[in-house]
Amino acid sequence: MSALFPALRSRPDRTALRFGADPATAETLTYEELARAAGELAVRLSGATRVAVWATPTARTAVAVVAALLAGVPVVPLNPRVGERELAHVLADSAPALLLAGPQDEPPAALAGLPRIDVPTRVAHFTPVSAVVAYGDGPEDPGSPAFVVYTSGTTGPPKGVLLPRRAVAASLDALAEVWSWTEEDVLVHALPLFHVHGLILGVLGPLRRGGEVRHLGAFSAEGVARELAAGGTMLFGVPTMYHRLAEALPGDPALVEALSGARLLVSGSAALPVRDHERITAATGRTVVERYGMSETLMNTSVRPGGPPRPGTVGTPLPGVEVRLVEEDGTVLGGSDGETVGEVQVRGPNLFSGYLNRPEATAEAFDGDWFRTGDMAVREADGAIRLVGRKATDLIKSGGYKIGAGEIENALLDHPGVREAAVTGEPDPDLGERIVAWIVPADPAAPPADAELADHVARLLAPHKRPRTVRLLDALPRNDLGKVLKKRLPAG
Ligand code: ATP
Ligand code: MG
Repeated sequence: MSALFPALRSRPDRTALRFGADPATAETLTYEELARAAGELAVRLSGATRVAVWATPTARTAVAVVAALLAGVPVVPLNPRVGERELAHVLADSAPALLLAGPQDEPPAALAGLPRIDVPTRVAHFTPVSAVVAYGDGPEDPGSPAFVVYTSGTTGPPKGVLLPRRAVAASLDALAEVWSWTEEDVLVHALPLFHVHGLILGVLGPLRRGGEVRHLGAFSAEGVARELAAGGTMLFGVPTMYHRLAEALPGDPALVEALSGARLLVSGSAALPVRDHERITAATGRTVVERYGMSETLMNTSVRPGGPPRPGTVGTPLPGVEVRLVEEDGTVLGGSDGETVGEVQVRGPNLFSGYLNRPEATAEAFDGDWFRTGDMAVREADGAIRLVGRKATDLIKSGGYKIGAGEIENALLDHPGVREAAVTGEPDPDLGERIVAWIVPADPAAPPADAELADHVARLLAPHKRPRTVRLLDALPRNDLGKVLKKRLPAG
């Protein structure tokens, strides 16, 4: 297989990475510096079975991951803010041989038993780039594992996903094709680096293209505005970030200008509320490109930049990826009526090779070579996929209907009195399940009346989709990517 990062050799002087909120003090590495640091570290990793990377939002994490990929050693990215119990689960499950961290990092006691290597970002002695050339660019076998990435744990304990090199290359190249992603692109980045979105798309994506990553350390609307104004061409964000941008836009002409001028604004990891999307478009004239993916499949679909804006949909399959919708009785959905719900199943070179230590879960997840995503969707007339929710938590069977939580959430967010909304089903003697709306009101002192919300949804969607129960909360439980954790909603 061709090199994962050809720019390590071909673009020595180009900036590869810049990490830090303040451009004056940020850490910057050219491709040559990255090649030297990663090349030196790769030699020391050679032969290890698997390495854990303490994935802080720093240049070291990028060096560590590139080094392991050069050495052909699978990487387990660890969330540095993870709780003890989840860390213990990930360690016991993935059994890494080594820990890669920064010299200043102080990982918790659970990691004390692991031999540790401090990741270099500057290699003092001369390590010619040719060392990387001589060393090679990792194993030739496209099926060899590149990562064990843990899922977000939205629906259960995080599962270790074995991602082969082939999937990484295929998915990044498919995105490059539909997003016209080139070496000229400078990605403005503010996501954590231990998931597919922040690490594989956000760091390896630009490095594979030979472009630049500018990581803000932490998200801020000011940081995004500054970096997009100063040469950033793309922004990858999660819906909570776009929500904050939508809130900030009206009073911030610099942000309006920065977002208007960006080449590409991309959202993923969770559904972008239609209302936030529309507010951004109204203020900037720009649409946000939604893409849909997951740890197991990397990227599946994307809205096409330059095509018609499709708020509420995640676009069409990426090149090389096949997507089908399968009804509960196993029928593969033929049409595109925008109404009939089926499970999204995916096939292509972007797929993982299995869950680590979970042969049964792996077998259950596949129907032949089709991966069952557990996400439910409809197909619109133009072929765009509209996700309606997850099978496990978001599909409500009420009064003989199958109703996706997602569209009700979007409708609720359309009400001016609603700041955040999540919809679940609860057992009901008459209906089978009853639609329950969890609402964070815009004004806690004057929340909208239950009946008003129910009428609002009935008017926008259909009477049978109105919430029967409304519960008020101060905030929705969310994980580090801003995904709503429905299992952590208080018991009804
Ligand atoms: P777990 O599998 O542990 O329950 P998770 O599914 O949240 O957690 P990830 O693999 O990180 O873990 O996330 C993938 C999921 O995120 C997808 O299956 C889908 O439900 C959701 N998702 C990703 N992109 C989008 C999007 N653009 N719109 C709506 N949902 C999305
Ligand atoms: Mg999942």
